[in-house]
Amino acid sequence: RNVPIVGSRLESTSAAHDAPGLPAEKYQYQAEVSRLMDLIVNSLYSNKEVFLRELVSNASDALDKLRFLSVTEPDLLKDAVDLDIRIQTDKDNGIITITDTGIGMTRQELVDCLGTIAQSGTAKFLKALKESKDAGADSNLIGQFGVGFYSAFLVSERVEVSTKSPKSDKQYVWEGEANSSSYTIREETDPSKHIPRGTRLTLYLKRDDKGFAHPERIQRLVQNYSQFVSFPIYTWQEKG
Ligand code: ADP
Ligand code: MG
Repeated sequence: RNVPIVGSRLESTSAAHDAPGLPAEKYQYQAEVSRLMDLIVNSLYSNKEVFLRELVSNASDALDKLRFLSVTEPDLLKDAVDLDIRIQTDKDNGIITITDTGIGMTRQELVDCLGTIAQSGTAKFLKALKESKDAGADSNLIGQFGVGFYSAFLVSERVEVSTKSPKSDKQYVWEGEANSSSYTIREETDPSKHIPRGTRLTLYLKRDDKGFAHPERIQRLVQNYSQFVSFPIYTWQEKG
């Protein structure tokens, strides 16, 4: 219990948003992820807008995986929703949501993918960082390698990932904060938040980064960085 074990349950918490009887479970990040998160959160890296490219590319990958698997498993498409990416902004509250109708993640996949470094690009980033001696190298390296999902924390103080895999009959919510070495996973019990399939990321932006929650800004970034994504990307502004 004193030794955090990666990917295993640390303790149950009873966060206020949980339905009674379904506590969120708390997990410790793999040590490398904690280091990476510290770097991302505290770096002076100024090109923060790359977060959108990384998250849209993950959405696109998830849609590709679904399309590929559905060739041999047509049942995967039984929830007849379009294959697309939707980006919604709420500028008054500084919130961006990115929703895809891709392959989603099971609870185990959430632990494996968003708590450890599975990704080769991120592993290379950390290796290059270890080998470099200059102060400020982290900023250059973030730009050079990209930091995948964790780049959400360049602009967010809190991130929620609500996801539904066709392999699971339940939807799960992963929740992490910028300055924390742990994250939680709980079942999504609010029916109004259920999605038929795929993943919805909710980014609660840092005070200084709330300006990203404007549809024009998002549209510009999508045009600049994600123009080769082969699925439709819709953006709109939430009515206040
Ligand atoms: P990479 O995309 O290079 O694998 P990331 O850090 O960007 O690394 O993402 C880590 C993993 O998390 C992905 O490989 C994927 O398994 C999972 N993931 C991230 N975003 C999504 C998503 N929108 N839908 C499904 N899986 C996702
Ligand atoms: Mg990625």
